[in-house]
Amino acid sequence: MTMPDLDVVVDARQWPVDLAEPKRIGELWTMIEDAIRGRDLGDGPTLTLDHPDGAVRVGLVWSRLGGRPVVGPDTTFQIVNLMERPRIRYRCKECAAAGRTEYGAFTCRDCGSAERDNRLCDDHVRILDGALIATCAQHAPACAECGRAATFRCGGQRCQRRRAHCDSHRRAHPHDPDVSYCPECYDVQFPSCERPGCTNVGVARCEITDERHNACGARACGLHIRRWQVFGGERLGLGLCRRHAQALPGYPPDWLIEQIVAGACVRAATRRRDAEPLPSLRGFAHSLRRRGHEELALNFRWIHRTLGGLERAAGPYAQALQERRQGAGRYRTRKGWDAELGEIEIGEGRGRQLVERLRELVRWTLRRDGPAIAAALELADFNPAREVRGQMRPALLFVRLPEHYRGLFKAHSRQFAESLSAHEPGGVMIRIEGDMRGGRR
Ligand SMILES: [Zn+2]
Ligand SMILES: [Zn+2]
Ligand SMILES: [Zn+2]
Ligand SMILES: [Zn+2]
Ligand SMILES: [Zn+2]
Ligand SMILES: [Zn+2]
Repeated sequence: MTMPDLDVVVDARQWPVDLAEPKRIGELWTMIEDAIRGRDLGDGPTLTLDHPDGAVRVGLVWSRLGGRPVVGPDTTFQIVNLMERPRIRYRCKECAAAGRTEYGAFTCRDCGSAERDNRLCDDHVRILDGALIATCAQHAPACAECGRAATFRCGGQRCQRRRAHCDSHRRAHPHDPDVSYCPECYDVQFPSCERPGCTNVGVARCEITDERHNACGARACGLHIRRWQVFGGERLGLGLCRRHAQALPGYPPDWLIEQIVAGACVRAATRRRDAEPLPSLRGFAHSLRRRGHEELALNFRWIHRTLGGLERAAGPYAQALQERRQGAGRYRTRKGWDAELGEIEIGEGRGRQLVERLRELVRWTLRRDGPAIAAALELADFNPAREVRGQMRPALLFVRLPEHYRGLFKAHSRQFAESLSAHEPGGVMIRIEGDMRGGRR
């Protein structure tokens, strides 16, 4: 066996081709041979071949040619060491198809596999805004709306980053330009205000329900939503859209009661932060009075009966109504409507006695018109004296009196109240029902 003329090392760490296959080494060596023929390897320890694809260095380790080792057509070589670039375990398949080797950090979600060479490099991977989902070019998603190339994935409720969309179907988050939604998800997330021309987000919704207990749901911004104060002046009233705010005055009184019940129950069921307990009988009375139903507002038995009818209809609110009526369940700490009605009826008895005494005072005090005024006086409502935050509030006696007698009566009403207070612990204040100038109603 003849010894080769030259022992060389080949440094191919810059060479872009993967040399895992022996055939590739053969190709490299052919390239080297063509380049070094006629060169004198004795000129320096290494020879650098500047090929357009990358430099290859050849170093002479041992020469058996003696003198000057010029490479001729018959010169034989032995490669004693081949230095390769570090072997890439995960290779980009797109780059490989173009004859290059590139590290592939990504796997296409749709065609990826555990295979090492089914990867994608930084240049060939497609990752859209909105989600770290990698795909190859073939599996890059199209816009769900128009089929053009998509640019982002929508994180909205409907899409949940599964669907992608193009730029003309992109709606930016109102406060965060880095977050985008498709038009449909945007409208769900940021519904527009119903008021034409208003660009605010419709944060509030109409809470009026139909016969099948479906809420209207029309959206309006905080500025344009209307409120129906049925839970007390400091609470957030039921939201009304424009249409239902206009319709409300035409609602019959029992339908108004049902709306208040429905509104409170829907809030409680959906665990809204503004959930309010069902009002007291007096609370319902107040809402009826403000809608112009003054007679029914004083008819607590009718209010109680109407609520009982809703309870028996066994709709979605029956349970809450039953608990509230009995002061049970969620309403344990509140007085039930049954107990409230009992107290109101006792109060009415007491109120009738006070009105009887008031008639005598009127007859005796207002000599000329006394008998006529006394005859016209009627009990409207009686709220017994009660303790509020440690302080005794006087009882309120509401009476009905025709308009033309009121002036004379009011001129003496303080004196009447003082006389009545002598018989009532906590004292009595007299109010004329429906009189705007002297009362809370
Ligand atoms: Zn690539
Ligand atoms: Zn793919
Ligand atoms: Zn599109
Ligand atoms: Zn969407
Ligand atoms: Zn608005
Ligand atoms: Zn509405």
